[in-house]
Amino acid sequence: MKFSLPLTPDSEQALFKEHQADHFHDECGVFGIHGHDEAAHITYLGLYALQHRGQESCGIVASNGREHTAHRAMGLVADTFGEKALSRLKGRHAVGHVRYSTAGESLLRNAQPICANTDGGPVSIAHNGNIVNAVAIRRELEGRGAIFGSTADSEVMLHLLARSREATMEERFIDAISRVKGAFSVALLTDDAMIGARDPSGFRPLSLGRLDGAWVLASETCALDLIGATFERDVEPGEVVVIRRGRLRSLWPLARNAPQHFCVFEYMYFARPDSNLSGNNVYAYRKELGRILAREHAVPVDMVVPVLDSGNAAALGYAEESGIPYDTALIRNHYVRRTFIEPAQSIRNFGVKVKHNAIRSFLDGKRIVLIDDSIVRGTTLIKIVAMLRAAGVREVHIRISGPPSVGSCYYGVDTPNREELIAYRHSVDEIREMLGADSLGYLSLEGLRRSAAQELKVGICDGCFSGDYPVPVNVDEELPQLSLFRAVEDEPTSE
Ligand code: AMP
Repeated sequence: MKFSLPLTPDSEQALFKEHQADHFHDECGVFGIHGHDEAAHITYLGLYALQHRGQESCGIVASNGREHTAHRAMGLVADTFGEKALSRLKGRHAVGHVRYSTAGESLLRNAQPICANTDGGPVSIAHNGNIVNAVAIRRELEGRGAIFGSTADSEVMLHLLARSREATMEERFIDAISRVKGAFSVALLTDDAMIGARDPSGFRPLSLGRLDGAWVLASETCALDLIGATFERDVEPGEVVVIRRGRLRSLWPLARNAPQHFCVFEYMYFARPDSNLSGNNVYAYRKELGRILAREHAVPVDMVVPVLDSGNAAALGYAEESGIPYDTALIRNHYVRRTFIEPAQSIRNFGVKVKHNAIRSFLDGKRIVLIDDSIVRGTTLIKIVAMLRAAGVREVHIRISGPPSVGSCYYGVDTPNREELIAYRHSVDEIREMLGADSLGYLSLEGLRRSAAQELKVGICDGCFSGDYPVPVNVDEELPQLSLFRAVEDEPTSE
């Protein structure tokens, strides 16, 4: 059941923030398996591991080689898939998706995988990333009579494929992806094959694994771990893998060896710490950023405190490097949901206390360095600093394990328009003052870039920190993900 209540401005802001932190984790996660007797069940588990990549809707499409059967629903994987739903998803092949809308609206019709019947057979697509020319392609196709069933950018790929005049489904898919620009990591199911692909910049991850002879595609390796699959390798930027009858063929229809632009924010925030992206462990890199931060912005304090869970690994790195004790004196409630009931009598700092609480006995009279991975609007930290002061903290020094977030993401990370980013409008010292902190230090862009080159050894996209967008976008336009196609009807909440 969903509650909808009149909200006080404070709780409204808090809810928005919860929405942001817990449900705005946006982007998407994709999973696929080809040639396994329990394809749908395994996909369910894979999506379970990828839940952090999208909590708004999820879906699985299974194929028995002739027919595709879909189950899509709003909500979390564990809440929407039961035995009954899974047992209906018959066949040895499946693709799945978890989503938080970055392009298109939050509606069931936008849940993925998106399916279509084409003259070449059924096709289902699960997509992670943002297509930057989706609006233009959509307008062009609509001008020629195409009817779109969703408002998601991913659907343009399916339309292009369905309309392609190439002979085989894989050629038609290649035809489609040669027309789209931006970020895509895709798992696609045809009647007899599973296709995986990444855009030439390789913005979003996609890994290949094996399980009992079946091939597996997953956004992150943590999904392979959960199902007990072995990691084979990553799908390379610009690569298309075609999996049919247990064999994998690798095709390079798009620019090969184009400069890579892996989203550095995947490392810093999105991906699960136990995943390896391009061969690098996420947790290890986050700790490394904390170590660099400690060297760049040392401060004499009594303890290092993370904003859980986002600042955890960096805080450990900071503590290791500085020799200052680490303490989780700010506790997080992991069961916070999107809606909660606030008593009529408003409670001070209610919003932040729902999620975090300070342990006074550890903090009273202390000087602390508080670590988080990013500041978006500043809402969280303003409240946390006030809470720490109320708990008796003498000095609060904030350290952020990334550079100031000054730009929106156009490639699949849900960030607000840049005007809403606190660092776009304000200097570091102004932000420090707004947060009420004694000092504020961000990791330098140079430090991030140097460590990416030395530690990660991959080309990165850091557009949200630098404004350098590798695939051209119009930064003065409203974000496509916020203003794309408007739907006009109501949507049922379950299928
Ligand atoms: P804010 O309170 O608006 O400054 O948000 C900062 C918090 O949001 C930090 O704890 C981050 O870990 C988290 N965060 C950063 N980027 C995102 C994002 N794109 N979506 C959701 N949460 C984010």
